[in-house]
Amino acid sequence: MNALEQQLDYPHGAALPANGSTIDVAPGVRWLRMALPFQLDHINLWLLRDVQEGRQGWTIVDCGINNDATREAWERIFANELDGLPVLRVVVTHMHPDHIGLAQWLTERWGVRMWISATDYNTARLASSSTTSFGGEGTARFMASHGLTDPEAQTKIKARTNYYASMVPQVPASYRRLMDGDTLHIGGRAWVCQAGYGHAPEHMSLHCAELGLLISGDMVLPRISTNVSVHEIEPESNPLVLYLDSIKRMKALPADTLVLPSHGRPFTGLHTRVDQLVAHHDERFAEVLAACAEAPQHAADLLMVLFKRKLDLHQTTFAMGESVAHLNALWLAGKLVRRLDDDRVYRFSLA
Ligand SMILES: [Zn+2]
Repeated sequence: MNALEQQLDYPHGAALPANGSTIDVAPGVRWLRMALPFQLDHINLWLLRDVQEGRQGWTIVDCGINNDATREAWERIFANELDGLPVLRVVVTHMHPDHIGLAQWLTERWGVRMWISATDYNTARLASSSTTSFGGEGTARFMASHGLTDPEAQTKIKARTNYYASMVPQVPASYRRLMDGDTLHIGGRAWVCQAGYGHAPEHMSLHCAELGLLISGDMVLPRISTNVSVHEIEPESNPLVLYLDSIKRMKALPADTLVLPSHGRPFTGLHTRVDQLVAHHDERFAEVLAACAEAPQHAADLLMVLFKRKLDLHQTTFAMGESVAHLNALWLAGKLVRRLDDDRVYRFSLA
C-alpha cells in the first residue's frame, strides 16, 4: 500500500472475491471481479438485488471484457450467486471495453435492456463499427502533431486500426438512456446517476444515499489515477478540467460514503481521495509549467517529466493523451501559448 492509500480505509481488508464468486458489500449489493488481459489485471462489477415490473432478480453494473474466460466466469456467477433469480437489466457506467465489452452477450442472454448515457452509447456504436477509431492513421497524425514522430511508433500506431472494435465487436442495438440526476429504483432503493466527464464522454456513477454507497466506475479509483486523455477526434478538448470539476462535485456526497470503484478495493475516504487526485494533477501542472519555462515543449518531450519511467508503446499512446490533456488545460487557461512549428509539431511555452 502506498502512502496515499494509507489515508483511505478498506472495510473489507485484503479480501477479494474469488473468480466466479462474490462478496456482499451492503444489503443486496454483491462485488465480483473479472480478469483483464492488460496490465490493469481486473475489473470490479456489481450485482444489485432488484425488482422490475413485478419480477425478482438482479441488476448488473458493468460487464467485463468480451472473451471466453469472462463469459465462463459469468456463467458460474449465474449458477451460484444469483439465488436462482434472473438478470433484469444491465447498467453500463461508460463505453470502455472492460465495462461495455460483454453488454451485447449479457443483454441477449437474459433478454434485457442496457442502460447507459446517450453519449457513451453513441460513441461505442460508432467506435465498434469503425476501423479508424482509437488507432490508425488519424491517431498517428495526432500523435505526430504532438511530437511522437519516432518511425517505429508511427508504424505500429498506424497498424492498430481496429483497436476498439476488436474488443467490442458489437454493442446492443437499443438502450435506455441515463442522464445526470436520474433516479434508478433498484430493489426499492433510490440510486442517483451522477455524470462525470473527462475519462469517458459521459460517464455515469451511481449514488445510493440510503446505503451510503457510490458506484464510482472509473471516475475515482483508490490506487491509480484515472486516465484522462485528449484523443484525435477532439484535439482541442480540455478533459482534465472536465474531470477535475466532475470529481470535485463528488465532495458534495457524505464523507463516509463507501466507494465501489471499478479497479482496486471498496474504500471510504472519498473526500480525501478527491483531494489527493486534485493535488496529483496540480503537481503535474507545476512540472509542465516549469519545463515549459525553460524551453518550448511538445507532449512527447513531457512524457519523462510526467511519468518518470520508460514506457512501452501501449503505455506511450495512453501517456501521450494524458500529456496533451495537461498541456491543453494550461493552454486553454492562458498559462501556456501553443505554436505550430515548421515541422508541424505543436510546442507550448509560458504565456
Ligand atoms: Zn474507463
